[in-house]
Amino acid sequence: MDIEQSLPGFVNPDVYPDSKSLPGLGNSGETSSVLQSQAEASLTADTLLAPDTPTERIAPPQPDPLLDESRDAVELLGEVLAEAKTCVRCSLAEARTNVVFGVGDPKADLMFIGEGPGADEDATGEPFVGRSGQLLTQLLKDEMSLTREQVYITNVVKCRPPGNRDPKPEEIQACDRFLVRQLQLIAPKVIVTLGNPATKTLLNTTTGITKLRGSKHEFKYPGGMATLIPTFHPSAALRNTANLPMLREDLVVARQELLSQS
Ligand code: SF4
Repeated sequence: MDIEQSLPGFVNPDVYPDSKSLPGLGNSGETSSVLQSQAEASLTADTLLAPDTPTERIAPPQPDPLLDESRDAVELLGEVLAEAKTCVRCSLAEARTNVVFGVGDPKADLMFIGEGPGADEDATGEPFVGRSGQLLTQLLKDEMSLTREQVYITNVVKCRPPGNRDPKPEEIQACDRFLVRQLQLIAPKVIVTLGNPATKTLLNTTTGITKLRGSKHEFKYPGGMATLIPTFHPSAALRNTANLPMLREDLVVARQELLSQS
């Protein structure tokens, strides 16, 4: 399986000046992910001021606290969580019980990204705790010899889409600021996307997970780079057990990738 070279991730050199010195980051003309362009738009607006008044429009840009290397990433992640907890940037805020931000080791080398919280996750505030989550936890143990506490698990959107529908593009766009910051602060070496919405969002593709699984992709994000491995959402393996061996296989590949980078 070859690693694809055409996925620069979401780097905005104007917002992340340090990225200019990193090979291959922020080059124009490369394929951009949806999340990259969304991140550029939202991060540019949010970190270089989101002016609401004429006075604010002429204010000088404020430094992005996430670029302050003297500050602890775990502490900063807590600040992003605090912001997410009060977020009303999209309509998913209306019916949520809890914002489901993420769980696990904030310094993990391995990050799992699903599409959005379900009913159990909305009720508890923790991602992947229902039947799908229990399967993921079991597969982590079986195929990777890891616990949930040793990885980081999150979703593309942090609030439950009604009826467990897929998140809409505008909801993903509204929420991308949080995923971008999680990636920037946790800095994973390996990312496993679970299911179609997460995979399509991060890889900016319309190709379905059935065709994409079994591949590896180079994925760049602000300040870092990871190997992205797409696979089925655990719920797809629960619905159709024929998917389970492939999900297991992909996790074995993720473990091998993790070991090769450590
Ligand atoms: S899904 Fe994301 S953007 Fe929408 S309200 Fe929840 S935290 Fe905010």
